[in-house]
Amino acid sequence: SVYERIERLNGRLNAYITVRPREEVEREVRSRLEEAKSRGGLPLAGLLVAVKDNIHVSGLPVTCGSRMLEKYIAVYDATVVERLRGAGAVVVGKTNMDEFAMGSTGETSAYGPARNPWNPDRVPGGSSSGTAVALAAGMATLGLGSDTGGSIRMPAAWTGVYGLKPTYGLVSRYGLVSYADSLEQIGPMARNTRDLAAVLEAIAGFDPRDSTSLRTRPQGLVEAAERGLREGAHGLRVAVLQEFMEHPGVDERVKGLVERAAGLLRDAGAVVGEARLGREVAEYSLPAYYVIAMAEASSNLARYDGVRYGPREPPRPWEGWNTYYSRIRARYLGAEVKLRIMLGSWMLSAGYRDQYYIRALRLRRLVRDRLLRLLEDNDILLAPAVIAPPPRLGEVADDPEKMYALDLATVVANLSGVPAAAAPAGWVEGVPLGVQLIAKPLAEDKLLQALGALE
Ligand code: GLN
Repeated sequence: SVYERIERLNGRLNAYITVRPREEVEREVRSRLEEAKSRGGLPLAGLLVAVKDNIHVSGLPVTCGSRMLEKYIAVYDATVVERLRGAGAVVVGKTNMDEFAMGSTGETSAYGPARNPWNPDRVPGGSSSGTAVALAAGMATLGLGSDTGGSIRMPAAWTGVYGLKPTYGLVSRYGLVSYADSLEQIGPMARNTRDLAAVLEAIAGFDPRDSTSLRTRPQGLVEAAERGLREGAHGLRVAVLQEFMEHPGVDERVKGLVERAAGLLRDAGAVVGEARLGREVAEYSLPAYYVIAMAEASSNLARYDGVRYGPREPPRPWEGWNTYYSRIRARYLGAEVKLRIMLGSWMLSAGYRDQYYIRALRLRRLVRDRLLRLLEDNDILLAPAVIAPPPRLGEVADDPEKMYALDLATVVANLSGVPAAAAPAGWVEGVPLGVQLIAKPLAEDKLLQALGALE
C-alpha cells in the first residue's frame, strides 16, 4: 500500500516533508468512499494525492522548502485542494521542493534533496521534486506540482511520470505561495494520462479569488485522454521544434527520444512535420525568463522579514528594523533564494531597469508571438522536456549557471502562457527521460489526446 511504501522508502528518498497520520487519512478515505456511494460516484473517490509544499492545505505546514516557513501552518485550503477534496481525493502529505520553487534539481531544499528512485545517486529534478518521487515510487497515486519555468515537467521527465503545466489562468493560484506570478501555474502530475486528465479536470476552471483566472471551465479532458489511448493521434498536426534538435547543448540521446516520439505519433495517425521558432528564441528565452523570474521573486519575497512572515525573534537593543529584517533574512533564507532577491532587486532598480527587465519583457513578447504563430498551423509542438539525463547529487548544485541551463526547453511555454506536458519517452543511463508536448492556449484536450496516443 501507499503507506507501507512511505514507511519503507521516504527516509531514503526524502519525497515528503510532512506525512499525515495513517489512521486519519484512512478514516478520510472511508468517508469519501461512503460519500461517493451515496452520490452515485466521485471522479477521484478515495485516491491519495501528494501536494507540493508551496500549496496551502488547511492544518498542515507550508514550508516551501524553506527554513523561513518551517513553523508556518496553513489556515485555509488552496482552491485546487478544495476542488480535489470535492472530487473525492485525500491529501496524504506535503512534498519536498526546491526552496520557494527556485531550482531545477530539488537540491536547494532546506530539508535535504529528494533522490531519484531509479538511481538514488541522481537528482529527481525540481522544483516539484517530492511529488515526482512520490509518484514514481508508489508513495501516492496523484500529485500536484507548480511550474514557473519547468518545475512540473522537469522532475516528471526524470522520474518517468506525467506532468502538465496548464494554460496561464486555467488553474487558480489562490493558495499557492508566489514565486513569479506572471509565469506560474499549479498543475497535475500522475502515473498515467488518464489520471493526469482527471486531476486537471477536477482543479481547472474559473475562481473569483484569483484575479488572473480565466472565465472558463474545461470539459471532456478525460474523454480526450481516452480518445488518445484508444484511437491514437488521428487529426493532430504535430511538428518537431528544430532549434532544440540542432542545439549543441542538447544530449544526442535526448534528441533520439524526441525523434522516436515523433515516429510513434506518426504511427498513431498524426501528421508529423518540422517547425522553427527562430534563432533568437532559442538564444534569449532562458535569459529573458531568469530576468523576469528574479524580478518578480525579489518583490514577492519581501514579505519574509520576521514580522509579517517568518520567525519572529526578539529585536536586539537599538538595532533598528532594517537590521532586524536583514538578520532574519540572512539566517533563514538559502543561498539560491538570496542570490535571486539581490539580482532581481538590482535588475529592477533605477538605471538598470531598462537594460534588463524592460528588455526581457520585449523578448518575452517576441517568444510568445513566434510560438503562437507556429501553433496556428500545428496542434502539438514536440521538443525535449530537459536537455540531458539527471545530474548526480551535487554535480550542478553549486553552479547556478549550469542549473539554469537545464531549463532551456521548458521556459518557452511559461513565457508564452501556453499549456505543455512531459511524458515518459525512454531511458538514458538507466534513468527515465521524458519528452515535451506544447499546445495552443486552452487546447489541453489536444495535449491529452497526444499524451494518450504516446502512452
Ligand atoms: N528552474 C526554474 C527556476 O529555478 C524553474 C522553477 C519552477 O518552475 N518553479 O526558476
